Amino acid sequence: MIRKLYPCGKKKAFNVTYDDGVLQDVRFVELLNKYGIKGTFNLNSALMENGFEWTHESGLVVKRLKMEDAAVLYEGHEVASHTATHPFMDSLTKEEIIRELIGDKSSLEALFSQEIRGFAVPFDYYSGLIEQCVKECGFEYARISEESLSFRPQDDYYKLKATVFHLDLALEEMADKFIDTHEELAVFQIVGHTYDLDTENKWDAIENILRKISSRGDILPMTTIEIVDYLGAMSKAEITDRCILNCSDRSLWFSVDDAVHEVSPYSSMDF
Ligand SMILES: [Zn+2]
Repeated sequence: MIRKLYPCGKKKAFNVTYDDGVLQDVRFVELLNKYGIKGTFNLNSALMENGFEWTHESGLVVKRLKMEDAAVLYEGHEVASHTATHPFMDSLTKEEIIRELIGDKSSLEALFSQEIRGFAVPFDYYSGLIEQCVKECGFEYARISEESLSFRPQDDYYKLKATVFHLDLALEEMADKFIDTHEELAVFQIVGHTYDLDTENKWDAIENILRKISSRGDILPMTTIEIVDYLGAMSKAEITDRCILNCSDRSLWFSVDDAVHEVSPYSSMDF
């Protein structure tokens, strides 16, 4: 029996995708680094530049990281765009949407000296026009605000749903189900803002999940773009009952009757 695997022969992928680039990300990134987990951080460059802050209903003043601190903090993690100013996009014209996307992408690319390939929608409004703009601006995926509540890999990268919002009451149950699942190419993505961990006193709960996931040898922590790249390459593989053909420019992993195989880029494996 042939089974598709993630890189290094891992059965499942795990990702955290966190928005807004706030001060609490410092503590969160320390946790991720402690457990060897790579995350995706979706930033608003103009709000970081302006030192934007707002008061949460709990009384907590939510502050953005400074640009220079962000440049160091997120090293080793993925940085993606979340628009320049976090607007309500339902009232924007196409030109204004493009300005928000391109402005953020180019500022973040200058700050992090790397291509910014991913986008996460601010608030929860998404439309065909925004999707078209995201594509025209060269982004390779758009994470929307809806939960999938499923471990099945998604095939529409421009309407990418994370599995579960971190304040969802089902969070811990979903994490345990993910650890137990045997679904092929199972993926578990947690989405949130780290200031919620302060206001809802959820630091211990999230650390428990990170600890559990990191202790599992069959789960690979990946960034969102790594998952998109890998699943994109996997979707081009041609599999018959005697041969696997890798039509992509990256290695793909499979198990054949429980033996793990790496199939090199643009090559085939007979069995
Ligand atoms: Zn946001």
